[in-house]
Amino acid sequence: MRKLQVGDGPERDLWPVFGKADSLIGCCSGWLAADKPDCVIHFPPRLWSYQFLRRVTPLAVTISNLSKTYPNGVKALKNISLQIGNNMFGLLGPNGAGKSTLMRTVATLQDPDSGSVHLDGIDVLEQKNEVRKLLGYLPQEFGVYPKISALDMLNHLAVMKGVTSAKERKEMIDALLQQTNLWEVRKKALSTYSGGMKQRFGIAQALLANPRLIIVDEPTAGLDPAERNRFLNLLSSIGREVTVILSTHIVDDVRELCPRMAIIASGELLLEGAPADTLAALNGKIWSKVVSSDDELRALESQMHVISTHLVAGLHEIRVYSDGNPGDGFHAVDSELEDVYFLNLSQQAKN
Ligand code: ADP
Ligand code: MG
Repeated sequence: MRKLQVGDGPERDLWPVFGKADSLIGCCSGWLAADKPDCVIHFPPRLWSYQFLRRVTPLAVTISNLSKTYPNGVKALKNISLQIGNNMFGLLGPNGAGKSTLMRTVATLQDPDSGSVHLDGIDVLEQKNEVRKLLGYLPQEFGVYPKISALDMLNHLAVMKGVTSAKERKEMIDALLQQTNLWEVRKKALSTYSGGMKQRFGIAQALLANPRLIIVDEPTAGLDPAERNRFLNLLSSIGREVTVILSTHIVDDVRELCPRMAIIASGELLLEGAPADTLAALNGKIWSKVVSSDDELRALESQMHVISTHLVAGLHEIRVYSDGNPGDGFHAVDSELEDVYFLNLSQQAKN
């Protein structure tokens, strides 16, 4: 095993090394590069916080035949199977779809009735502690915000996550407060934070200790447009080497961020794929028309597959799914991700 000491030269000297190393796996005294299995790369401690030092192979989450019925009889998950690879995965569904149940199951916080979840080779239902070491989780309900500051809270949570070195904690927390744009307010009580600031704090705590899987459950619900935008930008800045599962009922969240997505409703998986592919499948099949009266709207709803209606200046603009031109004033429109979503929901409702 060769030893390589990195970091004596200027920063740019690091890149030739990392340019070749597709993935780095931490080991006790240094890092192994996947394409240099015969050498350990050692870094001076000051370089450990560099983003690219965390480059590791993204975790794959394999969900197989997951079912859950609550004691009140609600079937929250019905035989869900999903393969979630690297990068941002969007789990899209209306309220009550089963998103939080699925997120909590992957986050080891509740058990299903049947089925399995694996993170690479780790059995999530059996090896919960192993999963928790790799996981950052932002639950939908983040609970009561205490009167202590973000700085103190992050410090406390970092200790709980096993970051025992005070110096390492400080470096990690300072970097996270900068990344989440909370540096200026780091000493203010969390209870005084706005909704957007609370969610950014939620991401900061989820990113503690360099997780390889991050689960964020409906993080944008209730944020105003500017805060939502800031939050989505923050999510997109999380490195590509981390697997992120984002659950949401907002189609635009998925459109803006996720190269892959799934739609679930009433505990069932309705669709899984790349947003671009699902859009392409609807090309030439979405038609639109402005309807002049409620009666006409009702008549069209009974005759055609209406997938959505929007009010535009007080008039109903309807969007219809049809293989051919429905005539009668309809014109072809580009398919949108919202069409994919509403079409799947309406098809499920009909079945
Ligand atoms: P989502 O996050 O997509 O809104 P949830 O997973 O929270 O969906 O809920 C799915 C279904 O399970 C809903 O009908 C909800 O009312 C029900 N449910 C969720 N948690 C519980 C619980 N602890 N006990 C009983 N029913 C529950
Ligand atoms: Mg939920």
